[in-house]
Amino acid sequence: MTKRYGHWINGESLDPARGSWLPSLEPGGDTVVYEIADGSAADVDAAVMAASAAFPPWRDLKPIERGRRLMALANALRERIDELGDLENRDGGKAPLMGPFEVAQSADYFEFYAGLVNLEAGDVLDLGPGFHSYTKREPFGVVGVITPWNVPMNQAARACAPALAAGNAVVLKPSEMTSATSLELAELATAVGIPNGVFNIVTGTGFDVGRPLVEHRMVRKVAFTGSVRAGREVGRIAAERIIPVTLELGGKSANLVFADADIPAAVMGSLRAFVLNTGQVCSNGTRLFVESSIHDDFVDAMVEAAPDFDPLLGQLTTQAQFEKVDEYFRIAADEGAVAATGGRIAEGWKPEITIYTGATNEMRIAREEIFGPVATVIPFEDEEHAIAMANDSDYGLAAGLWTRDISRAHRVAARLEAGQVFVNTWGTGIETPFGGYKQSGIGREKGIEALHHYSQVKSITVAL
Ligand code: NAD
Repeated sequence: MTKRYGHWINGESLDPARGSWLPSLEPGGDTVVYEIADGSAADVDAAVMAASAAFPPWRDLKPIERGRRLMALANALRERIDELGDLENRDGGKAPLMGPFEVAQSADYFEFYAGLVNLEAGDVLDLGPGFHSYTKREPFGVVGVITPWNVPMNQAARACAPALAAGNAVVLKPSEMTSATSLELAELATAVGIPNGVFNIVTGTGFDVGRPLVEHRMVRKVAFTGSVRAGREVGRIAAERIIPVTLELGGKSANLVFADADIPAAVMGSLRAFVLNTGQVCSNGTRLFVESSIHDDFVDAMVEAAPDFDPLLGQLTTQAQFEKVDEYFRIAADEGAVAATGGRIAEGWKPEITIYTGATNEMRIAREEIFGPVATVIPFEDEEHAIAMANDSDYGLAAGLWTRDISRAHRVAARLEAGQVFVNTWGTGIETPFGGYKQSGIGREKGIEALHHYSQVKSITVAL
């Protein structure tokens, strides 16, 4: 019999109020791997009410004790890295090395924020001898978290760990395509002593569960990760309700390779930058700008090294994503770009690593998020030219540059319009703030920065 996951509300598994279930299909096929509760506004209400009731005692727990519970969750996750990593891989059609890596990093989030619980302190303000004035940071109450399908547990942990560390209760709605590991995470949270109602999950579609979650009058803050389209809808509701939102949206990140770079390192780093997770990473470096004097040799070297990155490739996770990537292969051909390698789906929903040349920054393949292992290589003449093209994008999530000139590294990094810039590498861990300029989003996840997004400041002034 097919496994069924109920919602996770108030520390237990609950069947959906309207009694229907959604199938979760194996990527690349039509086998039903498990079913999830087909949630509705009634389930959202039950979860938010449970979270509201659990919030005051969680908020009032000594911070070090909250931290201990989060650390226990980190440890419990680490004990099950292989099993949960395998589940994540099957659910998302991922390459074998991805799942365990993503679960390990999920544990890192809980560990990191467990150690920062006392950081949400305030300041003493000097109003002169007649007053004692100070600020304190307080949690919002119930935080609604909405996540996409590409890195499911990791993105849940990224938002939930700082939200919980700051003393909030959470209702999480994972993607209806890949809910399993988020549900396992919530069950584990209850098992290690995170009180009932502090961490809840309601599964289902964006329309039936995501929207009512953002609309719920007891939800005081929303952290959304997903597409620009849905982010806009979430932002509209949040604007009506005057509640803060963090929006982590899409990207088309620029990666600049200067002729003075360590070329072998730049070749390998630039491949990893767009192939990771079959290209289904919002911050992947998919617009590759290469100094014209080395352009042809650089492309040749990338084509030669591309097969080394096959271990990062799996199936595209959803049928819609498979159709989208396939469609962009057609668009690229229509636009006159040349595939130096790849340019087609290899088998099932597994695309080839694809490097387009003969492209311009105006083409759709250089402007729109494809979300597959596809890079568009565009030559540049000098630093100004490279910066101008890199910044000529609606997005601004990440950017990278490869150079041995340390002055240029800092000079260019300062001018790139992106929430994070990598020099002679691509990607960082959980400690550095992450988020978008322009249409890539609002607010920051990761690092100490994220913690501040899950609390609000109160000032208190006492006449002495
Ligand atoms: P999506 O926007 O379709 O869905 C994301 C989540 O929002 C899902 O849980 C979905 O059910 C829900 N949702 C959809 N419509 C909604 C609505 N109107 N109201 C409330 N919730 C709604 O995105 P996706 O296809 O699951 O994910 C891919 C996108 O996510 C890509 O654009 C990618 O760049 C982006 N992404 C961004 C980051 C980041 O950190 N910036 C990370 C991963 C993915």
